[in-house]
Amino acid sequence: MPEEPCQCPDCQRFYREHDRLIRENPTLRQQQELSWAALQSFRTLAGRALEELQKTHGDTDAALAPAAAGAPADAGETDAMQQAIADLENINAHLFSIEALMDRIFDVRVPDAVEQKFRELAGELAPDPLNADRLRLNRLLHQTPDLPG
Ligand SMILES: [Zn+2]
Repeated sequence: MPEEPCQCPDCQRFYREHDRLIRENPTLRQQQELSWAALQSFRTLAGRALEELQKTHGDTDAALAPAAAGAPADAGETDAMQQAIADLENINAHLFSIEALMDRIFDVRVPDAVEQKFRELAGELAPDPLNADRLRLNRLLHQTPDLPG
C-alpha cells in the first residue's frame, strides 16, 4: 500500500516543482545537465558567501580570541556567525564530494531509444500542470475513514 502523500503547502510546492523538472527535462541528458547546473550554481554561491563571511568575520580561531574592545552584547551574534561559517564550510565540503560522485553519473551516454523511453515515462509521471490537483483528488478517492464501532 502506497503511503498518502503529505499535502501541506511545502510538500505541494515540492510536488509541483518535482513534476515541472521532469516535464521540462524529460531525457537522461537533460536531467544530467539540470543537476550539474544546480550543483554548480549552489557551489558558486555558497563558496562566495563563505569567502565573504571569512573575510569579514575571520576564521573560527579568531572567535576564540575576541577583540578586547568587543562588547559582551556582541558575543551571541558572533557565536551565531561563527556557527554559520562552520556550517557553510561543511556544506561546501559536501558539495565538493557530491560533485566528485556526479562526475561518474554525467559520463554516461545512452542510445536514442533509451532517451525515448525516458520521454515516455516523463509523460506518465508528470503529465500536466494539474498534477497537484490530481494528487488531491487521488487523496480524496483513497480516503477510507475508519468509522467508530
Ligand atoms: Zn508536507
